[in-house]
Amino acid sequence: MNWKSHLIVSSIFIILTTILVIYLSDDNILRGISVFEFIAGIGIAYYCALLPDIDIKTSKVFSFTLIVCLLAIIYFATSEGYIEIIAIVGFIVVIMFFDHRGIMHKWYTAIPIAIIALFASMSIVVALYAFVGYISHAGIEKSKD
Ligand SMILES: [Zn+2]
Repeated sequence: MNWKSHLIVSSIFIILTTILVIYLSDDNILRGISVFEFIAGIGIAYYCALLPDIDIKTSKVFSFTLIVCLLAIIYFATSEGYIEIIAIVGFIVVIMFFDHRGIMHKWYTAIPIAIIALFASMSIVVALYAFVGYISHAGIEKSKD
């Protein structure tokens, strides 16, 4: 599937997740969710819906991620964040070695992705959206082995 199809499929997952989150927040299981968490969560979900194709060097998500990394490097260079720069460069090196439809196309890769989203955002809602977005791609496309 191409990136547009993935955005359409993930939209169904995202709508269902939004209904679930609203339902749970009415039930007070998820209390005090801000509108910002919804907006950030949905944005993250769409990014994660394309993220498995970061293993294709010509994909939109690969280019997008590379641009964000380069902007982050410029930002950290101006604020002397050398450890962050090393981490970002390390991340770029790692994504260069991904095999198409390898580890990034396993459904369970959604778990570490959701954990990273949880620690980056400190929001269970954002983590849930990241997980659902990722599953909407990696869960339906066959991996190589
Ligand atoms: Zn894919």
